[in-house]
Amino acid sequence: MHRLPASMGDLSTCVLCGPTPATLVVAANGFRIVRCGRCNLVFVDGARDLENLDTFYSGTYYQGEDNAVYGYRDYTADRSIHLKNSQVLLSVIERRATGSGRVLLDVGCAHGFFLRAAQARGWVPHGVDISAEAVEYARRDLGLAVTRGNIDDCRLPPLSVDVVTLIGTIEHLTDPMRTLRSAARLLRSGGLLAITTPDIEGRLGYFSWKPPEHLFYFSARTLARLLDETGFVVELRRIEWKYYGLADLGQRLWGYWGLPNPNRWARALESVGLGRLSVKIPTNEMLVIARRR
Ligand SMILES: [Zn+2]
Repeated sequence: MHRLPASMGDLSTCVLCGPTPATLVVAANGFRIVRCGRCNLVFVDGARDLENLDTFYSGTYYQGEDNAVYGYRDYTADRSIHLKNSQVLLSVIERRATGSGRVLLDVGCAHGFFLRAAQARGWVPHGVDISAEAVEYARRDLGLAVTRGNIDDCRLPPLSVDVVTLIGTIEHLTDPMRTLRSAARLLRSGGLLAITTPDIEGRLGYFSWKPPEHLFYFSARTLARLLDETGFVVELRRIEWKYYGLADLGQRLWGYWGLPNPNRWARALESVGLGRLSVKIPTNEMLVIARRR
């Protein structure tokens, strides 16, 4: 599915700086993660040339008993938790949304739970996702207008969108610069962009290198630079607090600590009916709200 990029000597291609001297941060899963010598952006070397990533987001990605590092234990079973997190984020967005337009595009919408929550609050929801299974669920089970592919596959006219969201999406993209440029084209002037993504400088330290799932590793500064370059002004940045189901959280921590049998804890909680019980905790992710210039 994926491969090591061809060596370019000491130069890597940074989405912000072009060909650039870069230092190796870590080699993981057969990928080189490098830091740009000019802007400090950390990324998988050659991310832009990766192909067939859609196969990574199929099969057991969203439902795998042993998923502890990549993917989810049972994404759709945690539907009520995704909906709760969506309500919190929508409240933040709605406090800042100006004008009467209610068209919202969620890039990397997965099964569409955020869009469902948005629709219930009066938004006109559109979504796009690379995963065939997730798109099928969003269409069939939730009746949502969701496109399979990337943002450029959405048939929305320029300047027609009021809010674009990338919730835990931008770190998965092969070219976040291109996606944000497309978001800027679709958004009307003054429209909002909301991004959540792991913060490489996050204080909590629960941070994993996990290519090819995560291809870009942002700090507040590198994300702000990318937003500035693509036509946005940052209005808000804060630590993201999120609800997690206990089974999902336990399995993630187990994986993070590299402990054996990651699903043992999750199964034990599920067997006594506590697996879907949720707790709200601070995460290593940042929420950034930016406005289209
Ligand atoms: Zn750079």
